[in-house]
Amino acid sequence: MDTEERVEQLKPLLRSVLEILGEDPEREGLRRTSERWARALLTYTRGYADEPENHLKVVFQLDEDDYPMGSDDMIMVDKIAFTSTCEHHIAPFRGNVHIAYIPDPASRVITGLSKLSRVVDVFARRLQVQERMTQQIARAIDENLKPLGVIVVVQAAHFCMIQRGVEQRESMTLTTARRGVFLTNAALETKFQAYLKLRSDSAQA
Ligand SMILES: [Zn+2]
Repeated sequence: MDTEERVEQLKPLLRSVLEILGEDPEREGLRRTSERWARALLTYTRGYADEPENHLKVVFQLDEDDYPMGSDDMIMVDKIAFTSTCEHHIAPFRGNVHIAYIPDPASRVITGLSKLSRVVDVFARRLQVQERMTQQIARAIDENLKPLGVIVVVQAAHFCMIQRGVEQRESMTLTTARRGVFLTNAALETKFQAYLKLRSDSAQA
């Protein structure tokens, strides 16, 4: 089904919702809302039409002479901003993803740094729970780059908590996923956390 067909099928659904709420879908402010909502919803979920392989299949192999790589040399990218949609309430949740991986010194395979944010986007733009999104990002990096290890930390604020009865305005949810050496070598995670702390300290200074 193409985008225009989807929009046409979605529009009457929100119209019904508005009527059930006691609204008049034909009043000036709401007349085009069903269409805007339909297009917005398709944007929030466009990750269904994308796969992490589309972004991670182009990899680089570091030259052995230029990069004498050790087995704890990490590549880290922090604060990849994302907005996703909670599948329990169809409400947004947004925050940051921090990623580190350790390339395998045997294969020396890495990816472009911007590709990591593409992978975050692929999974964020679906109906999600934060825990699963965190695991999916880690698995995609693990399976495509085959690094020695990868760690993914996601920090997010959920609007279903902010806006519904519970009113938890300040709560942040933190989830982690680890693969490979990050499961067995706690010192690596300590190093990663120290880097994140350094970054947040310098942001406050
Ligand atoms: Zn929710």
